Amino acid sequence: GSDDFDDVPESLDRVESAGIAAVVESLRDAVDTRLAYPRRFRATQLKALERMLDAHEAEFVAALYTDLGKSPVEAKLTELDLVRAEIDHAQLYLSEWMEAKSVKVPLALQPAAAKVQAQPLGLVLIIGPWNYPLQLILAPLVAALAAGNAVVLKPSELAPATSALLAKLVPQFLDRRAVAVIEGGASASSVLLEQKFDHIFYTGGERVGRIVALAAAAQLTPVTLELGGKSPAVVMDGSHVAVARRLAYGKFMNAGQTCVAPDYVLAVGKAAELLEVQLAKAIGGFYGKNPLRSKDYGRIVNLDHFQRLRSYLDQGTVVIGGGFDEDELKIEPTVMIDVDPDSPLMREEIFGPILPIVKVESFDAAVRFINSRPHPLAAYLFSENPRLQSAFEDQVRAGAIVHNAPNMHLAVPGLPFGGVGASGMGAYHGRHGFERFSQLRPVFSKTAVIDTLRAVYPPYTWAKNKI
Ligand code: NAD
Repeated sequence: GSDDFDDVPESLDRVESAGIAAVVESLRDAVDTRLAYPRRFRATQLKALERMLDAHEAEFVAALYTDLGKSPVEAKLTELDLVRAEIDHAQLYLSEWMEAKSVKVPLALQPAAAKVQAQPLGLVLIIGPWNYPLQLILAPLVAALAAGNAVVLKPSELAPATSALLAKLVPQFLDRRAVAVIEGGASASSVLLEQKFDHIFYTGGERVGRIVALAAAAQLTPVTLELGGKSPAVVMDGSHVAVARRLAYGKFMNAGQTCVAPDYVLAVGKAAELLEVQLAKAIGGFYGKNPLRSKDYGRIVNLDHFQRLRSYLDQGTVVIGGGFDEDELKIEPTVMIDVDPDSPLMREEIFGPILPIVKVESFDAAVRFINSRPHPLAAYLFSENPRLQSAFEDQVRAGAIVHNAPNMHLAVPGLPFGGVGASGMGAYHGRHGFERFSQLRPVFSKTAVIDTLRAVYPPYTWAKNKI
């Protein structure tokens, strides 16, 4: 959905482009000297990142308000605190993750030792989107630093205040020889993609994801693609009022501009009518009678996205909300019914505060609906029935399966976060992030003092007898 909006590449003169190449080149030195490798260095950088967030929390919160009208509470919970949780977790487990893990050696090869060592990949590029412009740059950074890499960060130009703040503060707190921030849009990104990296970690839409993957392929650089898609929420009949609150919370947080937000509802049986009533209550309870004036309710990132979202309002019947304020770039929390499964609203990622409800006959029909479409980043089921829960887990392909609590899985550092198929490749957070930015390198060692391999050498007379 948001992919349809090409940002106009700003002109990037040769001087600037040479500047980017020089920055990347300088970080190569850090890789060559293994500057970021020692455990101490990694721990120091994580600590420094924590200090940066603590010392400048108010500025980050203000920047997020400037960029997205994000409420300070939401900014703290979903951006700063999520990064802090990743830092805490990495600090706690760093030594354990770095420890080589020994592996059993088959009898025929004994005596010998085998182990797996996590090695840094080297120099990695992290490209972030605008919707959680702080968290989606810094959470990957935590993983990359924990794994001992040098890092180039490219925040989104569509969240300029956050990008500028990162560019100012990161060099003040982190080691400049190992971490750099490059600001800019498509053209700065393109120059970056011409450089040689050991891994590219991209979060954003599918269209640019393909551009990144193609550029990476030319240099055989491995990529992680954290993309989006339409995450469905299946609501079973007889749902509790908490279901509507959970849905409204997951959907309307950040004005619906969340990659894992429930994109649409598949309401089974009679669930739809009840849900409409309860969603109206939930939305009123959260944002009051006039959500456009609520301090807890964010705005749409820019006019392009605002207009794209406005056009969706004509593709069905609005039953809740539907109002908007173009000057403020705000759209009310909106619920729609009677939507055509083939309309843009139901084909593109909505990425805004519009929740279509689609009626389906049964749980099985809901599963078929989901599986007939590209694999989403998350699939949500609202049911207390353990049999349905496990059927959902068995039958649905999605980046994550979540029961009764949209978006919450993201805040568990032990869970891998990533997509499958159209929603991306590769996952991170916690140990999974550490491993994403590591080479899991085998080490096999044997002594040559006694030749215990003699039995396998040619001439193969021993084998001839057996065959
Ligand atoms: P965006 O427009 O900010 O683009 C993402 C990044 O790509 C930016 O840094 C941008 O500068 C860069 N870019 C833009 N054009 C480029 C080009 N031609 N070449 C190279 N780089 C370029 O963000 P977006 O794509 O609108 O982000 C929204 C999308 O991201 C949604 O689809 C959402 O679901 C997805 N998303 C996924 C996750 C996740 O963790 N899986 C999280 C947030 C958002």
